[in-house]
Amino acid sequence: MEVITSIPALRARIGAMRANGQGIGLVPTLGGLHDGHAALVEAARAAGDLPVATLFLNPAQFSESEDLERYPAERDADIALLKAAGAALVFAPATEEIYPPGFSTRISITAFEDVLCAQNRPGHFNGVSLVVCKLLCIARAERAYFGEKDWQQCLVVKALVRDLNIDTDIVTVPTARDSDGLALSTRNRYLTAAERRLAPQLYHEICEAAARIAQGTPTELACAEAQETLTLAGFSQVEYLECRNAETLRLAPSPGRGARVFVAARLGAARLIDNVPVPA
Ligand code: AMP
Repeated sequence: MEVITSIPALRARIGAMRANGQGIGLVPTLGGLHDGHAALVEAARAAGDLPVATLFLNPAQFSESEDLERYPAERDADIALLKAAGAALVFAPATEEIYPPGFSTRISITAFEDVLCAQNRPGHFNGVSLVVCKLLCIARAERAYFGEKDWQQCLVVKALVRDLNIDTDIVTVPTARDSDGLALSTRNRYLTAAERRLAPQLYHEICEAAARIAQGTPTELACAEAQETLTLAGFSQVEYLECRNAETLRLAPSPGRGARVFVAARLGAARLIDNVPVPA
């Protein structure tokens, strides 16, 4: 498995791979990889694509108060994980390869800008959109794979490719979880042992809220009680715990089909997010 750092070399390599007739499945990541990232590579392979993973800690999607400086940068371990997962190629550019001196373009995406993570992380999805747009333009992949843990990100990326006519299909992959239910996340590494024991409660509370909503409990009540439980359990700040339509992200006061419960909460030094469907 080759590791490529320059855009021209990546394009040349992808061109050669495509000559064999297989599609390219792009898997963008920030690094600090875990089995959730491996699941994206495996999904690309299972779909018959040649998985091309990217390792790029994108500064544009972190605000000054966020964790860019301490974000795990473990290139060798990340490359080993991608190789084991079956990636065909890794693109691991330096920051200047993506944002060279004089780089001046910004993307301002208004889709879903006033809900969920966009409210607590201003500018975050503009930074995500910028790098995803660049990576898709660079790789010209047939498909790109994103994880449903970051549900809002999946919707933003779909809006981006639709609005800018980017010729790549966006494929979403179910959330990979630890055996106790906790969604795998790079930021789980920030948890102390005690916090790690508490963390799966995030998943269990949104499952419980979703089940109660399906049984007829008013969504606001089910969500407020789940939020209260998490606060009492020791989550320092529950940024949101809400039931929303899965496609529009509008609040779903009386969920029909396609509602999901979304949560973001802080536990110690980690900000954790998750989401689950309301059972039909
Ligand atoms: P990140 O490196 O955190 O930006 O994540 C890169 C990609 O991996 C994104 O599409 C994420 O949604 C996806 N991802 C992260 N965690 C998981 C998980 N637990 N299960 C599935 N996909 C994930």
